[in-house]
Amino acid sequence: MTFRTRFAPSPTGPLHLGHAYSALLAHDAARRHGGAFLLRIEDLDQSRVRAEWKELIYQDLEWLGITWDEEPIKQSERKDAYLSILTGLYPAIPTFACTCNRRDIQQAMGAPHAEDMAFGPDGLIYPGTCRAHHYDLNSEDLDTLNLRLSLNQIQHDITPITHLEYSDISFSNRILSLMTLAEFQDRIGEIVLWRKGYAAYHLASVIDDAHQGITHIIRGQDLMEATHIHVLLQILLGVPTPAYHHHDLIRDKNGKRLAKRHDAKAIRKYREDGATPADIRRMVGL
Ligand SMILES: [Zn+2]
Repeated sequence: MTFRTRFAPSPTGPLHLGHAYSALLAHDAARRHGGAFLLRIEDLDQSRVRAEWKELIYQDLEWLGITWDEEPIKQSERKDAYLSILTGLYPAIPTFACTCNRRDIQQAMGAPHAEDMAFGPDGLIYPGTCRAHHYDLNSEDLDTLNLRLSLNQIQHDITPITHLEYSDISFSNRILSLMTLAEFQDRIGEIVLWRKGYAAYHLASVIDDAHQGITHIIRGQDLMEATHIHVLLQILLGVPTPAYHHHDLIRDKNGKRLAKRHDAKAIRKYREDGATPADIRRMVGL
């Protein structure tokens, strides 16, 4: 049985306890099963990425005793791979061009107040404004407009997935059945796959998991709904669906998610304050 898992942080800030938990959980599982633990730097959003955060990821992980088995991949270096899947000679994933901004979408939904609008795991559920426009794409356009997933051009049979179970960490996934395309349209919608010159998170992440041969994905419950998106993209790409385990999120003593707190203490600060890696493990319950 092959076991390949990964940790995929974005260098847009320091790692916190929640990141450490996710990384340690995946790393320990790989070691326990004689598998591989890989690292992927999700540095697509160049406006938010900083080189020092990238360097700090490596330092924090090494300090925690985490080792990775292959050269880390950086998403900023894989633009061509993402683009060819959307706009190559035989695109694997059907898309349409969208020129709407947020206000256009709000107006099309007839919802003047943000709280009246429908949100899914990818943000506002797109009302379909540009769906029927025909747009002859040229490469310059790709820097200024978005490409959205064209749900009504999907020809594949979308069948429920019912077998995602794995030994001691439960990979059962409460997702046991993938939503139908009609449900996907209602609850998630025509998501953005390419945003003004860059692959969007969902697309890049799915392509890279396939590229890195990932068989087991261990990540937080906040991404549970997004897994529907990822499984659909895997079906369209014709790549295997890994087993998923969505772990609990690390919270403070008031129950607030650490990732949502601006004052959440960085791993670097714990290090500077004299904590040991064993202290970090204890704090996250490992
Ligand atoms: Zn549009």
